[in-house]
Amino acid sequence: MKLNIVIPIYNEEGNIKDLFKELDNSLKNVKYTIIFVDDGSTDNSFQILKDLYNENKNSIKVISFSRNFGKESAMYAGLKAAAAEYTCIIDADLQQNPKHIMEMLNFLEDNEEFDEVAMVNNYGNEKRSQRFMKRAFYRIMSKASGQNTVIGASDFRMMRHGVVEALVSMQEINRFSKGLFAWVGFNTYYIDYSVEKRHSGTSKFKLRKQISYAKDGILSFSTKPLKIATILGTIISTISFIYLLEILFQTIIFGKDLPGYASMMSVILLLGGIQLLVLGIIGEYIAKSYLEVKKRPIFITKKKLGFDEDIL
Ligand code: UDP
Ligand code: MG
Repeated sequence: MKLNIVIPIYNEEGNIKDLFKELDNSLKNVKYTIIFVDDGSTDNSFQILKDLYNENKNSIKVISFSRNFGKESAMYAGLKAAAAEYTCIIDADLQQNPKHIMEMLNFLEDNEEFDEVAMVNNYGNEKRSQRFMKRAFYRIMSKASGQNTVIGASDFRMMRHGVVEALVSMQEINRFSKGLFAWVGFNTYYIDYSVEKRHSGTSKFKLRKQISYAKDGILSFSTKPLKIATILGTIISTISFIYLLEILFQTIIFGKDLPGYASMMSVILLLGGIQLLVLGIIGEYIAKSYLEVKKRPIFITKKKLGFDEDIL
């Protein structure tokens, strides 16, 4: 098989058929199989996928989860099932134009030295303020996680099978693909494009989910936050020591009687706050380790279509 296309699906009933049509149109001369991963959709998505599968058994496979495990798990399941020479990941909502798939494929075929092509959103269709916010988000993420992620590079990309194998070999439960793509290395080529408007339905990544996603990214790839305790501890000890010396001078040498209540309270509250903050950060890491140590599966499959053993 030349090409596998992994598509995570969570409540995309209004998009699946049109997406398939667009994909089929733009991939006329390539032998491909689409791996749809239904991430526990609660709408009609699975039924639509089933109908589509029955009409196109040669080019579609479907994996359906027992519940919603999140986009990262859905991508992992799709990559794990991928066996083609090239594998591409694309969203289901037509924000990422399928015409770019051929562009990526042609590039990889012509340029042996590259292992992966990633589409980079230039935010051409976004308002200025949003563009600024999103770029800032990437910059902070990149710095904090210690991974060199390119601004605007998302999951819309195509890789050779070796890259897929490397990604699948990382079996952590807290998956943060933007970091994982950077961490496995390989030679990546970046192509500019503009994300389009969602075809149907609404985004599943609202602001709160985005913030928690950013936090996960930092915690999965960096231990820098743990060092905050050491740094704050050093600074505060130094300041306290100087303050202590001053008090000693004032009382012993100059014989001044210093009122201490207000300054004492503020120091106690400040230190209490910092200690809680640092404990919280340590707690976040312990929670993550706890979840990893349990070694629970990254996803649970309920149904599979098109994965008959003899065909595989
Ligand atoms: N998605 C998923 N599981 C989830 C949330 C999203 O598989 O829990 C899929 C969704 O169906 C879509 C892709 O991930 O194909 C991107 O989601 P969305 O378009 O909502 O994100 P945005 O483009 O707004 O970042
Ligand atoms: Mg989208």
